[in-house]
Amino acid sequence: MTVEQRLNEVRERISRAVRQSGREPDSVSLVAVSKTFEADAIRPVIACGQRIFGENRVQEAQGKWPELKAETSGIELHLIGPLQSNKAADAVALFDVIETVDREKIARTLADEMRRQGRSVRLYVQVNTGLEPQKAGVAPDDVGSFLKLCREELSLSIEGLMCIPPADEYPGPHFALLAKLARENGVPRLSMGMSGDFESAIAMGATSVRVGSAIFGTR
Ligand SMILES: *Cc1c(COP(=O)(O)O)cnc(C)c1O
Repeated sequence: MTVEQRLNEVRERISRAVRQSGREPDSVSLVAVSKTFEADAIRPVIACGQRIFGENRVQEAQGKWPELKAETSGIELHLIGPLQSNKAADAVALFDVIETVDREKIARTLADEMRRQGRSVRLYVQVNTGLEPQKAGVAPDDVGSFLKLCREELSLSIEGLMCIPPADEYPGPHFALLAKLARENGVPRLSMGMSGDFESAIAMGATSVRVGSAIFGTR
């Protein structure tokens, strides 16, 4: 199968899941995760009309996206990997959405950088729904207080919540927990679901799914 065929298949699976969940046709957007793939592998996906992409490393993204963004207008680039404070300036300059805000220091640094660069980047808070020690994200119990800090003290508007469920568990309960936290805290968007589980994420209310290997192939 070509990358175009795989992209079309993912689009059809998303449409089907949206229909089966009784949701509005355009209520779920596809973030095509292009990490580890070079610009030449990404161009055919852009040529199919895909405009929203996800990368997990700032430095890797800097090596391909300035050029790709210059070639095509309307590209929306999401950072979906951990962000260190010393990369915050670069991240604010390149990304349109940062999905991995997960601690006070990075939230403060992002607020300062956006002010300094005069650029506003849309933000999601990453939640560690499985409380995995090796994984980034705010603990579910701390989401309310972290959002309060972001909103009231730092004047940051938080558009969504994001999670990566533990690899060895059924993702459904994690998606349900993220949806509940978003509802309780008045956060409008939910980034959840990857190649292996995006249909169930859509059934649980995902507003965007992050799909890599089902489009680009195995890494
Ligand atoms: C790599 C990655 C994805 C995409 O994973 P696939 O299984 O290839 O679809 C989604 N989200 C995050 C945070 C990732 O790092």
